[in-house]
Amino acid sequence: MSTLKRKRWSRRYGDWFRNVLIDAGIMDYRYPIKGCGVWMPYGFKIRKNVLQILRDLLDSTGHNETLFPLMIPETSLAKESAHVKSFEEECFWVTRGGLTPLKVKYALRPTSETVIAPMLKLWIRSHADLPIKLYQIVSIFRYETKATRPLIRTREVASFKEAHTTHATLEDAEAQVKEAVEVYKRFFDELGVPYTISRRPDWDKFAGAVYTLSFDMICPDGRTLQIGTVHNLGQNFSKAFDITYETEKGTQEHVWQTSYGISGRAIAALLSVHGDDHGVVLPPKIAPIQVVVIPIPYKKKDKQINRACEGVITTLKEADLRVELDPRTDLRPGSKFYYWELRGIPIRIEVGPKDVENNEATLVRRDTLEKQTCKINELVAAVQKLLKKITRDLRQRAWEWIEDRVYRVDSLEEAKQLLSKRAGIVEVLWCNRAECGRQLEEAVGARVLGVPVGTEEKVGGKCVVCGRKADHVVRAAIAY
Ligand code: ZN
Repeated sequence: MSTLKRKRWSRRYGDWFRNVLIDAGIMDYRYPIKGCGVWMPYGFKIRKNVLQILRDLLDSTGHNETLFPLMIPETSLAKESAHVKSFEEECFWVTRGGLTPLKVKYALRPTSETVIAPMLKLWIRSHADLPIKLYQIVSIFRYETKATRPLIRTREVASFKEAHTTHATLEDAEAQVKEAVEVYKRFFDELGVPYTISRRPDWDKFAGAVYTLSFDMICPDGRTLQIGTVHNLGQNFSKAFDITYETEKGTQEHVWQTSYGISGRAIAALLSVHGDDHGVVLPPKIAPIQVVVIPIPYKKKDKQINRACEGVITTLKEADLRVELDPRTDLRPGSKFYYWELRGIPIRIEVGPKDVENNEATLVRRDTLEKQTCKINELVAAVQKLLKKITRDLRQRAWEWIEDRVYRVDSLEEAKQLLSKRAGIVEVLWCNRAECGRQLEEAVGARVLGVPVGTEEKVGGKCVVCGRKADHVVRAAIAY
């Protein structure tokens, strides 16, 4: 898309996002409870493909999928003090069974550290039981009082993948944090979703964590979206729940833990980052249908055209491609193009009278809408090559988009100006003191995302707030 077109589209991104979810048959959020949406059949298939990538990555790195209960007794939630303080006002509480008031009320899980902890206490005996790497994909519930947004700020987060790991030593937990970051990088790379990774400031870390690393992406409107988090929990929960193991020397030690999560926001990111005026654009690996075949009717040639279309379908199916014919006779080809473009099908194949005559088909790629023709006997190779190219190009364009929107600036004034224009992420020098971080947030009217992770950049200079010596760059943005 041209820069100008993209700019125009970005300005109405919020409306675009809401509309496209319903129009493309992905999600309907008009349910009678605010912040709860329905995954429609087409959207559910997209969700399934996205979660399959995540499952494969976790399974292949030694994680085991499980399913823990939805409800948490208040007595469990209250055991870790920072955790309960942060979550008690955000929980939905079950207070009655039928008409009988419950003696101990139950929270609908806002996250599952305190669901899993009492079971780990029962399961873990010795160092031989460790590590334990579990995950589940479930709904979590948070009583959001701010304006809700489908997939981005919801009361039922209906596709929450949470992993919980338990280790014998701090070093093992640290190594696990690194593995989790690598898994998430590979996951987002598969979706073609670009990200920055920051270590959240202490005042914004997960309640109960020693520290939190966060993946953020920039939405088309210049606001950032947190799309994944990795927490080192240290021994905070194991001490609160007294989860211990016997070491090789025979002593009892508390275990070390991590947790990390990804939600439906990953799908919001995927749709937002690749979308355009015509609708969503799906990377081929995610698309429930990779190729749609559309006959272009022409008087007296319809029989040959339909036969050619069926040939195309058979050939592509044999090559394990997800392909579908649009045989509808009540719609003109133009309306069909529009229909499938809205749904983001990576390749459209048109077969018209000229194509039949030349033993060809016309391929149109969804991301650029460029056309090419191809001989029927070379179709499979051409389609596979084009799908690969689309995957690569989507990822590259998305990364260029985010890289153009990260600004290193020297003054608060510059930072403020960029953020007031919703330019993206600003990076400034920081002395690492919370006081200055808070002042920075106030001065630029934005949120501190944290210190960059993975770029071991040594910086020299002065804190943009207090003028003291700074060793760190810190990022700030207007965040969702
Ligand atoms: Zn400072």
